[in-house]
Formats: sequence, C-alpha cells, structure tokens
Amino acid sequence: MKVTAVETFLVEPRWLFLKVNTDEGVTGWGEPVVEGRAETVRAAVHELAELVIGQDPLRVEDLWQVLRRGGFYRGGPVLSSALSGYDHALWDIAGKARGLPVHELLGGPVRDRVRAYSWVGGDRPDGIFEAVARQVSAGFTAVKMNATPEMRPIASPADAHAVLDRAREAREALGQDGDLAIDFHGRVSPAMARRLVRMLEEVQPMFVEEPVLPELPAEVLASVVQASTVPIATGERLYSRWEFKPVLEAGVAVVQPDPSHAGGISELRRIGSLAEIYGASIAPHCPLGPISLAASLQVAFTTPNFLIQEQSAGMHYHGTDPAYLVDMAPVRVVDGWFARPAGPGLGVEVDEDAVRRAAEIGHAWRSPIWRHDDGSFAEW
Ligand SMILES: [Mg+2]
Repeated sequence: MKVTAVETFLVEPRWLFLKVNTDEGVTGWGEPVVEGRAETVRAAVHELAELVIGQDPLRVEDLWQVLRRGGFYRGGPVLSSALSGYDHALWDIAGKARGLPVHELLGGPVRDRVRAYSWVGGDRPDGIFEAVARQVSAGFTAVKMNATPEMRPIASPADAHAVLDRAREAREALGQDGDLAIDFHGRVSPAMARRLVRMLEEVQPMFVEEPVLPELPAEVLASVVQASTVPIATGERLYSRWEFKPVLEAGVAVVQPDPSHAGGISELRRIGSLAEIYGASIAPHCPLGPISLAASLQVAFTTPNFLIQEQSAGMHYHGTDPAYLVDMAPVRVVDGWFARPAGPGLGVEVDEDAVRRAAEIGHAWRSPIWRHDDGSFAEW
C-alpha cells in the first residue's frame, strides 16, 4: 500500500482535519492542530507530506521517526501537532486495513469503559453550582473548571478566596462521590499556586492542572507539588516523552499529553508507559474535535495507568457541537462513560460531505488576549 495524497480541512469551531489517501482506497483521518494556530500547522502538514506520499502507510513507527527526526529540527507545538495528525491517520489506515480497532493492535483492551469529565463554568468561571448540577444530572461524576479569571502575580485575599468559594460550590454540587479537577491554566504565579493548592486541600480536588506555566523550571513545579497533598497534573503544552520526564521527576500525579500535540497515539502510549515508572496516571488533554478524541480513546482503552478522559462536548469554545461524523455515538459520553469503540481504525466514520462543506467556511479562531487592570499582559 502507498500513500497517494493528503488533504486538510479547516473547520469550525477551531479545528483542522487531515485525510490521508492510499492507492488501495483505504483512507485515514487525523486532527493536526494547535488551537489558534491552525493555519500554521496546516502549512507544516503540507510541507511534511513529501515524507509521506509514496510511502507504505502501514510502517507507522518508521514514518513517525522520519516525520519527527527527518528535518533535523524537531518538536514544539507546530511540528509535533503536524506529526500527531499523521500518526492518527496512519493508525486509522493500519486498523482499517486489518479490520481491527487501533486498541486491538496495541495489545487489546485493559478496561471495558472509559470515564469522562465535563467542562463547567467557562473561561472566567461563573455559575459553578448550577453548571455542575447540570452535568451531574446528565450522568457525569467528574467535572473540570477554570480556577480563576486573570490573576495578579500576588492576588488579593478576596481573589484567592473566590477560587476556594468556586471550588466549594462545585464540591457541594458534586457531593463526596464526585471528582473535581481545577485548571489553573498557567494563569497563576508560582507563589500564588503554592498558596492556592493549600487552600484547596479541603475540597480534595482530583487534581489541579497546569498550576504554573510549562516553560518554568521543573523545580518550580516541584515546589507546588510539595506545597500540599493536592495531586498535580500538567502536560497539554508538552510535546514529547522527553518533555514529560522532568515533570514526572517533579512529582506530578497526572500527565496530560494532548493526542493532537504530543505526537499522536504512538507517543501518548509511550508517555503513558513513562508515567507508569513514576506511579503516575495519564489523563489525555482533549478539548478538540472528534478525530482527536477518537485517537485518545484508542489509547485510553489499552493503557493500564489511564485515569480519565477530557472531551469537548458543550465546551465554552463552541455553542452547538458540530457533527462531523456519520455516527457520533463512538465519541459520545453516556452516563459519564465512553463505550469501547468497535469499528476499525480510530472507530469513527468521518462525514466527508459535512467536512467539505464546513471547510468552505473555515475559521480564524484565536486565543483571547487578556490584560490586567493596569493594562499589562495577562495569561489567558
Ligand atoms: Mg488545561
């Protein structure tokens, strides 16, 4: 089998899809995107196509190595996301060519269903009790929320207590059986992160996510880990197993590689194994589209130290959830769980007509630019 062509589709709300065609009629789909830089990744995908076209798509690992290492310069959000999309599509082809779901090729399932959480509260978290209660009545037993809007490097007691109050609201709506993840989103300084995780201990979060910016030295992250008993998670802005080693050494409890950024199914598997050495769990970051989620689920079903799956249904970046699959059931949460996908490859069938129609409109989604009240740049 040979790859004959690649196509990309920029589709709302903020996604980019990749289709890899072969001479035997088997096609693979991937989702290579960095949120807010979709067109940049698209350019990388098309530049890398020369390494894929004419090659045997079933040599998934060899193509992964060539796509990552073949340009001398490697890694980073753009190149790793382009590589991730190819990895999804190649695994999709590998599964379809053999009539098996990808997780069967990766050693078979290690669980019968996959637990999911839902986002609540939006970018500037608000209305938490009602939002969590809605998700609980929809069957979710776990939710994630942003901790805070813009936060000054040293916040006022009122702003710090507002974080705790929102977490208490969520805990009250969830009850003691539910799980609460709190995303600091890199908005919080190390000093405030250390203060806040201690304050949040009483609500027993499942984890606090990205307590500090990913580019800070790992010893800063370690200081937050050591400041409280709250499990610390990070990883949506890390792009390979090499970048996960220092955060695991810092003592994080949960790693969150994104299937569309960290090197695809192949690298998520390896990051999961790396985390296993440290007794840590993997909870893939996944606020993107159905192909990225389908890829993540294939990993979730075959990775022993998997914790919980993020998914973007109802997320604050899109009003209605666009349906780009012929059947959305394989990526839909029912009563808080994903069922094991039975279909070959990624287990989803892309509605190509819907994708082509959406690509005629495209999108220009960008991350918001936030400012502190003195006019200086604030992390979003
Ligand atoms: Mg996050």
